[in-house]
This record gives sequence, structure tokens and C-alpha cells, in this order.
Amino acid sequence: MNSKPKIFDAHCDVLMKMFLNPNLSFHNSEDLHLTNNQLISTGSKVQCFAIYIPERIHPSMRFHAALTMIEHFYENIVKTPNMKLVKSKRDIDLLEENEIGAVLTLEGCDCIGEDLLKLKTLLRLGVSSVGLTWNHSNAIADGILEPRGGGLTAFGHKVVSLLEETNTWCDVSHLSVRGFWDVMEYDLRTIASHSNCHSICSNPRNLNDEQITHLIKKDSVMGITFVPEFLVSNGVASITDVIKHIDHVCSLGGENHLGFGSDFDGIDKVVMGLERYQGYARLMEELYKHYTTNQVDKFLFNNFTKRFPIRHI
Ligand SMILES: [Zn+2]
Repeated sequence: MNSKPKIFDAHCDVLMKMFLNPNLSFHNSEDLHLTNNQLISTGSKVQCFAIYIPERIHPSMRFHAALTMIEHFYENIVKTPNMKLVKSKRDIDLLEENEIGAVLTLEGCDCIGEDLLKLKTLLRLGVSSVGLTWNHSNAIADGILEPRGGGLTAFGHKVVSLLEETNTWCDVSHLSVRGFWDVMEYDLRTIASHSNCHSICSNPRNLNDEQITHLIKKDSVMGITFVPEFLVSNGVASITDVIKHIDHVCSLGGENHLGFGSDFDGIDKVVMGLERYQGYARLMEELYKHYTTNQVDKFLFNNFTKRFPIRHI
């Protein structure tokens, strides 16, 4: 093999950390799990950067906070010489050898309130994947930790219709089970950017087998995430535990429908051996012990990349 495998990572929270501490250097900060230096040295090809608004931000300030994170995305990430903005499948195909694609994503629609124009504005500003909720409820639907467990609201249906119309990824990670099934009624492109298997670790954030099987049927992709409490019930996880979730998705027929969504910089506790982005190198070593080169390429890059939408906006 002459070239390193390429990595598509569907979720990180670097923008949130930059929002909280604007002085952080994307280049090489010790306080980030994921930096440009690490992306380059480990073989990143596409990295998704989520807009996640901390819950303590007053609702009236959330849209402004989203715009601030978008400003960080363009000024501190996209302006980095080796980084290129990715908004559509073609942008990935056109990446040169030394370029890394940066995808802007939204984790939870709280910041748009009940204003569809705000969502449309975010899509025009480059958001390519939209998670409907974080863990709690908003005007669109209930998140997975909302005890009521409600599905899409009337406004939520409008949001999903807009995503369908613009061919934007709808991200079902964090969404209530009822909301998940409501979204599945639509003929739109879905992903679960950072969720693991409930039958391996019974955290509510994980997807049950019925959901995973349906995502596979819908030609969707789920990103296995490096959040210790979503990997093992005691919260002390190693790379072997990551492999167990991959094995399980494969046992359900999901070899072509799984990838990774690390959640780097969105987590306090980390997986042993996967403490930072460069840990992907160790994960790769382990993957090669269990899977063929072709399979590893699919998990690391091809499954998500192949399904990146051609956008209509
Ligand atoms: Zn998350």
C-alpha cells in the first residue's frame, strides 16, 4: 500500500470550543482534540464541524451564536491553506491530494426558533447537514432525553420538507425515537452522524436494531462515535469496544452503511487510545486485524463520501 487511508469524520465540536474560547488555535492548540496538524498527519480528507449552541445561551441570542460559530468556521478553519469548503458531493470529488474538506453542520435547530428563513439562511451560509434536535425539545421535535418523547411538530414537518427540497442531510442523532420514525416517512437523505448500537450499550443516545436496520434499508450511514458512555455501560472504553459496535452494525448487514463521527471536542471523557484525532491511526491498526482493506476504506471514508448529497441550494 502506498497511500494512507482517507478519513471522513461526521462530527466534532471544535466550533463550540472556539466560540467559548476565541483564542484557541485550530492549527495546533493543545486544548483541542482535533487540530489542523493532526488532521494532516493522520490522513483526514473530510471533517464535519458542528454548530452546537450551549444550552446556557439565552434563546434570543442563539441565532447570533450560530453566526459567530460560522464566522469562526470561515475565518479560522476554511481560510487555513490546506482546508477547502465542502457543500456538495462535487466539492469532495474536486479535493486535491493535499486538501482537506471542511463541512459545516448544525447540531440541533434550537437557534432558528420557529423561523424557517433562519434555517434557509444557515443552509445558504454553507450548512450541509442538519440535526433536528439536541437532547431536549425544541420547536421541531423532542430530543431523546425529553421524557415526553414527541415526534415532529407541524413546524418540524416544514423543516424536514425544506431539507428534502434542498437535498440536505437530515441528521437523526439525538432525536427522539418517535421523531426518528417521523423523519423516516420522508424521501430524504438521512444520516446518524454520531450514534452507537443500543443492543451493545443501552444508552438512550444509541440506536436500536430496528432503527439501524431501517437506516441500512434507506441507504443511510451511521457514524460510530467515540463517546465512552455510548460505547460501554461502565463508561471506561477502549478501541476494542469501538470494534464491537462496528461488528454489530456489520452483523445487521451494515458494512456499506457505517462510518465514524468522533465527537472530538464535544466530550470530556475519552476512549483509551483515541484521546485525540491522531488516535484514528491506532483505530486503523485495529480495524485491519478484523476487516479487509476494502472494508476499512468503506468505514473510514467511502460510505459517508459516496452518499454526500448533491445539494439544491
Ligand atoms: Zn452530539
